[in-house]
Amino acid sequence: MILNQASTRRFRAYTSKHLDELLQRAGLDEEERLQVRAVATVLPFRTNAYVVDELIDWSAAPDDPIYRLVFPQEDMLPAADVARLADLLKAEAPNAEIQAEANKVRALLNPHPAGQMDLNVPRIGDEPVPGMQHKYPETVLFFPKQGQTCHAYCTYCFRWAQFVGDADLKFASDDIDQMVSYIRQHPEVTSVLITGGDAMIMGEPVIRRYIEPLLGLEQLESIRIGTKALAYWPQRFVSDPDADATLELFEQVVEAGKNLAFMAHFSHPRELESPLVESAVKRILGSGATIRTQAPLIRSINDDPAVWTSMWRRQLRMGLIPYYMFVERDTGPQDYFAVPLARAYEIFRDAYSSVSGLCRTVRGPSMSATPGKVCVDGVTEIAGQKVFMLHLIQARDPALVGRPFFAHYDPSAVWLTDLRPAFADRFPYEAAAEEALLPV
Ligand SMILES: *Cc1c(COP(=O)(O)O)cnc(C)c1O
Repeated sequence: MILNQASTRRFRAYTSKHLDELLQRAGLDEEERLQVRAVATVLPFRTNAYVVDELIDWSAAPDDPIYRLVFPQEDMLPAADVARLADLLKAEAPNAEIQAEANKVRALLNPHPAGQMDLNVPRIGDEPVPGMQHKYPETVLFFPKQGQTCHAYCTYCFRWAQFVGDADLKFASDDIDQMVSYIRQHPEVTSVLITGGDAMIMGEPVIRRYIEPLLGLEQLESIRIGTKALAYWPQRFVSDPDADATLELFEQVVEAGKNLAFMAHFSHPRELESPLVESAVKRILGSGATIRTQAPLIRSINDDPAVWTSMWRRQLRMGLIPYYMFVERDTGPQDYFAVPLARAYEIFRDAYSSVSGLCRTVRGPSMSATPGKVCVDGVTEIAGQKVFMLHLIQARDPALVGRPFFAHYDPSAVWLTDLRPAFADRFPYEAAAEEALLPV
């Protein structure tokens, strides 16, 4: 029986093997459980005892936001697909047959959103450097091979395809020397973002192998760690066997004169409530690291300004710095989770206008798209036309940052690709892409 192990000390993942038992706890009947298990043949499921016993309000499941954050829902996929997969499960069809059917459904979920795979691939000479993306002039992303999973999966994750074993997306690397050589050759790089997956899924000896070689690079000002461990497994920084050694590593980064920045993913204020999170935050801040927070805006989980207000306020008290509110990306069950841009802007503005200036470090709603990060600044009327006002917070081409541009208002638009330019025949980044092809 897995459900009584709330006090399990060592991390252990619950996977689709445990799904039926967990769904019983949510009060789902046999037919409902079968439907959810059918969805879980397509989309990844993984959670753990801390999420199950400390975060989810089981009396409110299946409507509880944290339940919805980690458990698949039967209506996340088209009903006909779910019915077909449920039939296969019921008939105890061979796994290969179920997987083949699941793969067909996955293929329709835009598993490779633009810019994930082929863009930004750095090269040394002609050789691509695996596991790296040179996103913005000053920033490189590194995907360590051992960091390509998480303590639990979010149902809305834009990297879902890599968690279901899509070989094409396994671009991670353990070639630390190549990363270091590349950075040395690019003095404009000042920030390395270690991401995944979740960098904190790696044990201390492994993460040390990635971080220590970076400490000797004088040009680096910051090392960032993308993580949801503070929400899903705060024990990582408090009571896990390598917690102390991990904090010593953080101190070493700070002593080397670099900003160690946690980019912590928090989706809901409840994730900040447990005393374990408080201890973890205190220990991380005590090492001299900083913690910035970010999350996407997700329908049925956090699409309410009061949720963001209370989350940012609580973060402020704890010494965390609100950083980004993202728009859900155009992949996976996006139809299920998407909040229209017009509504996203209202939620952001309502939340932002009711917090202290110290929380207004947050930017958003922001779309991390191929040209960069596009922020929806508002909806207004100009020369009789209702338009979205937009600007790039970050761009592959720095010349485009901070310049306002416009799109026709569309109440149902949920992503950049749904927008049409207003007062221009193309968006600024489209023009830039063409000009880049012209001889200088
Ligand atoms: C946000 C983001 C970064 C970092 O951008 P900053 O604005 O410097 O925080 C890097 N890569 C991707 C894909 C991002 O979305």
